[in-house]
Amino acid sequence: MYTQDELRDIASKFVIYGDFLVAVPFGSGHINDTYQLTYDQGGVRLHYTMQRINHAVFHHPEQVMENMDRVTRHLLNKIHAERIETKKRTLRLLRTYTNQPCVQDHRGNYWRAYVFVENARSYDVLENPKQAYMAAQAFGDFQCNLVDLPGPRLHETIPNFHNTPKRVEALEAAIKSDKAGRARQVRHEIDFIMKRREETEKLLKLNAEGSIPERITHNDTKVNNILIDDLTGEGICVIDLDTVMPGLALYDFGDMVRAGTSAAEEDEVNLEKVGMRFEMYEALFRGFLSSAGGFLTPAERENLPFAGKLITLETAIRFLTDYLEGDVYFKTRRPHHNLDRCRNQLKIVESIESQMNEMKKLLKQA
Ligand code: ADP
Ligand code: MG
Ligand code: MG
Repeated sequence: MYTQDELRDIASKFVIYGDFLVAVPFGSGHINDTYQLTYDQGGVRLHYTMQRINHAVFHHPEQVMENMDRVTRHLLNKIHAERIETKKRTLRLLRTYTNQPCVQDHRGNYWRAYVFVENARSYDVLENPKQAYMAAQAFGDFQCNLVDLPGPRLHETIPNFHNTPKRVEALEAAIKSDKAGRARQVRHEIDFIMKRREETEKLLKLNAEGSIPERITHNDTKVNNILIDDLTGEGICVIDLDTVMPGLALYDFGDMVRAGTSAAEEDEVNLEKVGMRFEMYEALFRGFLSSAGGFLTPAERENLPFAGKLITLETAIRFLTDYLEGDVYFKTRRPHHNLDRCRNQLKIVESIESQMNEMKKLLKQA
C-alpha cells in the first residue's frame, strides 16, 4: 500500500497545475492500481487518474507506454480533425516534467496519469442487448480510428497473446508433463479440444495468405473498459489501453462474444445456465458492424461468426493448461476452479456451434 505522502510525491512528477488535495483508490480494475487525484486550482476542484502499471503482467512498461502514447495522440488528432462536434473523448495522458509519459517511483514501480473523464462511469457486466450494441460499436470505432496509425508496428507487449496453435502446443506440453497428476481426469475435455485443433489455425492461415490483415486491436474488450456518459448512456471513451497491440480485428470481436453473450459468470458450474444468447450475439454483431463494417475485408466479415468460437476455445485451453500445471497462472479460489472455468468455456463453444447456422444467416442478411 502507498501512503498519501508517497502518492503525492509521485503525482508531483506530472505536469499538473494546482495544489494536491487527496488520492483515493478508484474503480474496479483487476490489473493496475488506480487512484483518483483531486487538485485545487483557485477554488476549482480538478480530477486526474493515476495508475501504477502492473509490471508482473507487463514486463516492459516503457513499451506499453510508447504504444499508449502513440495511440492516444492519434485518437486525439482524429477527434480534433473529424469529431469536434461530438462528445466523444479519448484518454489523455499527462506528461512528466521531464516530458515522459510515465515515472518510476522509489520502489521501482511505474506510474502514469490521465485527465479524469468526468460524468461518466464504467459498468462491470453487459446488462442488455442495447449495452452490447453500444460496447461493440465503441470497440469497432476504436479499431477503425487506428487503421491509419502512422509509424512502425506497435510493440507486442504480450507476445503471441492470441496465437491459438501455440496455446494448443502449451496444452500438449502440460498434458505430457502432467505436473499436478490431473491429466487422467480431464480426458473428455482434452478430446473435445483436440477434435477442433485444425480450426485453431484458421485465422492465422488466412492472415498468412493475406486475406486477413494484421491491425491494431484493444485485446481487453470488457464493458468496464468503456466509459459511459452519465447523461446520454453513450459510450464516450475506450480506456485500459495496456494491451493495445498488433492483432486481428476478429480477436476483439471474438472476445466480446465470449465474455458478453453468456448469462452466467465465467466460473459458473451449473452449465445449464451457460451458453451464447443469440440476442446478445446479434447486438454485438450489429454494433461492431455499425462502426467496423466499413474497413473489414470480406474474409474478416465472413469469419465474424467463427471468431467467438475461436477465442472461447482458446480461453478454455488456457484454463485447462493452467489446471494441469497446478494452477500457477490464474488466481483460483477453490480446488478445481480452473477446470470449472474450462468446462464453462467449452459449454459456450458447444452453444456457439449449435447456433452457427443462424449466425451465418444473420451475416448474409447484414
Ligand atoms: P485495469 O487494467 O486495472 O482494468 P483500467 O485502466 O481499466 O485498469 O482502470 C480501472 C478503472 O478506473 C476503470 O474501469 C475506470 O472505472 C477508471 N478509470 C480509468 N481511467 C479513467 C479516466 N481517465 N477517467 C475516469 N475513470 C477512469
Ligand atoms: Mg480495465
Ligand atoms: Mg487492463
